[in-house]
Amino acid sequence: MYVKTSLTPIEKLAQLGDEATRFEPAGDSPLAERRRRRSPDDEQMLSCISHVNTPKGVKPVLKAMVTTACENDCYYCPFRSGRGEMRRVAFTPDELASAFDRLQRSGIVDGLFLSSGVLNGGASVQDKIIDTGEILRTKYHYQDYIHLKIMPGAEYDQIARAMQIADRVSVNLEAPTAERLYALAPKKDFYAELFQRLQWTQQVRQQTPHRVRASTVTQFVVGAVGDTDLELLSLSARLYGQLGLTRAYYSGFSPVADTPLEDTPPTPFLRERRLYQASFLLRDYRWDVEDLPFLNDGNLRQDIDPKRAWADVHLLHAPVEVMHAAREALMRVPGIGPVGADAIIKARQRGSLTDLAHLRAIGIRTASLAAPYILLSGRRPPQQLSMWE
Ligand code: SF4
Repeated sequence: MYVKTSLTPIEKLAQLGDEATRFEPAGDSPLAERRRRRSPDDEQMLSCISHVNTPKGVKPVLKAMVTTACENDCYYCPFRSGRGEMRRVAFTPDELASAFDRLQRSGIVDGLFLSSGVLNGGASVQDKIIDTGEILRTKYHYQDYIHLKIMPGAEYDQIARAMQIADRVSVNLEAPTAERLYALAPKKDFYAELFQRLQWTQQVRQQTPHRVRASTVTQFVVGAVGDTDLELLSLSARLYGQLGLTRAYYSGFSPVADTPLEDTPPTPFLRERRLYQASFLLRDYRWDVEDLPFLNDGNLRQDIDPKRAWADVHLLHAPVEVMHAAREALMRVPGIGPVGADAIIKARQRGSLTDLAHLRAIGIRTASLAAPYILLSGRRPPQQLSMWE
């Protein structure tokens, strides 16, 4: 069912509601974003606005779609072709840009995340996504956060243009291998339509660095078709290392009525959380995938975070001497991150660190988490948890 065309763009945005971009995080704190997605007063318009952590700070971001009509039939998606009697909406770039401008000038939103269903091929919709961003930048002089989706099958020049306009572009792989993608979204081609587009974002960045504004992210739908953490994190490591990816998002699957996966159980929240923790170890702590403590089934433990699971095996009986360890060794200790490791290296030049209180005094508030895995000037510290941690 299509909505009558007499609706205003704002009314059409309200029709989108919070189903728009159900699995697609708009910013840097996807777990918090999902919890806040539904507005307290449940007004439909507000439910497609999320307060998200963008590279420019926390902002109310409008999550919109050029169209909710789609010729693909991804098994998890509320917008798949032929799904029941659902309402479909479509915008012209002018309509979307002017609606956003109105909301932005009213102080209701300050940031746009723009995606779309696929209609007449990905390249055709990509033009509309780009045109919307271009109108916002040129006609309305909007200079803040814009996140544009790169559609399956988008062309190289379109990707280059999107990366000039947007602060962030996303090429969603959805699954870690071609086989998993086929089980999830049979009409999408993992290599030709998706992975190659991710490679192109890196090529554009390398060939025209002075013209590129956007970072690149990707997203996986986790847990619907037997994908393992090992598969997801192996691919993430490759994307961080070789394709300049800024961030991988792991969106736990949740079933949608009247889709082929409606009886598949939702993915536990803890699995998402452990994937993000492991992903940060790969990206920010320079761990190798081989360092991550996978179970025999290829998944991470859900009961404790992966850094602690690794430390329980490797550091409990071989603790790190805080006074002498290299930065990388310090960062292997639970409770000590890059900032804490730097603070330790600076502090130990001034004198001995002999007590957990010394670590807290230099800003390591999670010092008690580190206690089982460290020596302080040759001695194991006491292991009671501080009431502040
Ligand atoms: S391409 Fe797939 S995920 Fe995207 S809107 Fe269409 S059915 Fe949904």
